[in-house]
Amino acid sequence: MKLLEEEGLDKKIRPSHLQEFIGHEAIKTRLNILIGAAKSRDEPLPHILFHGPPGLGKTTLSLILSKEMNCSIIQTSGPAIDKPADLAGILTNLCKGDILFIDEIHRLPKNVEEYLYQAMEDFKIDIMIDSGPTAKSVSIAIKPFTLVAATTKTGLLSAPLRTRFPFNVRLDFYDVDSLIKIAKRSADVLKVKIENCAAQELAMRSRGTPRIVNNLLRWVRDCHTNNSGAIKKSDAETALDMLSIDKKGLDEMDIRILSWIIDHHGGGPVGLKSIAIAMGEDADTIEQVQEPFLVIKGYIKRGPQGRVATDLAYRHLGRSES
Ligand code: ADP
Repeated sequence: MKLLEEEGLDKKIRPSHLQEFIGHEAIKTRLNILIGAAKSRDEPLPHILFHGPPGLGKTTLSLILSKEMNCSIIQTSGPAIDKPADLAGILTNLCKGDILFIDEIHRLPKNVEEYLYQAMEDFKIDIMIDSGPTAKSVSIAIKPFTLVAATTKTGLLSAPLRTRFPFNVRLDFYDVDSLIKIAKRSADVLKVKIENCAAQELAMRSRGTPRIVNNLLRWVRDCHTNNSGAIKKSDAETALDMLSIDKKGLDEMDIRILSWIIDHHGGGPVGLKSIAIAMGEDADTIEQVQEPFLVIKGYIKRGPQGRVATDLAYRHLGRSES
């Protein structure tokens, strides 16, 4: 019961229209133009690729597009489609104007990816009928649809796939003001009262990421359950300190990575694989979750020989470079 309630809240917290999507004004303006143009021509939206680190709103924007276009959205992910026949099944069931959302498109198997090209360009697919000497290929028309894809790793997309998306959107980390607005909007949905400076505390410690600000809000709400007043800055600080997230938003793993580079490798350079082994974590997770934030905030630099801790990292940990 509790789980179902929380799932319902998840849905409510997720903005369902463009005007509820906070921040990224330029992207919203461009999407609004695309939506208006597609509606006026009674055509599907062009294929759209969203890329950027996890938790920044790629899935949310895809769902918003289907709401704004008033069409169905079929959600799947790259690793879930393991053969062309799976993709053919999905494509032949689409109605005109539907959105097919493929998350983690960089993990789509190569043979499926090639199959997608013709579907994206000509709204046709070739299906093999029979096998052996009697096998023949039949071309089937599919309804014009929009492929909306998301990836955390554009670099892994092949050029032929990347260039088939006329519209390419990069989502970057959010500024503190936008995250304060997101925290306050989510607090309203959760019926939680929160003071401005407490929302700011959450925003500053959430690594520029809406998903994290929402998770922190829920944690602070749970810590505050027996208190009927609004959440104050001191309540937020106490709750967030329990999660070992510091004032700059660095969590335990960030601190372990920086300390290890500085204490064991004189500040680097160190290769990603060595960091991953030392942390007992998967290299992909370090590269996609920890590293972008540490690089953007200036705690590490990526060089040809590996990762190097910056002066800021030394100062943050209170270490001296000598
Ligand atoms: P991604 O697909 O990039 O990993 P999601 O779209 O799942 O990220 O976003 C994670 C959560 O963060 C969503 O459930 C949503 O509630 C919230 N969120 C993301 N972007 C925004 C935004 N711009 N405004 C308000 N909430 C947002």
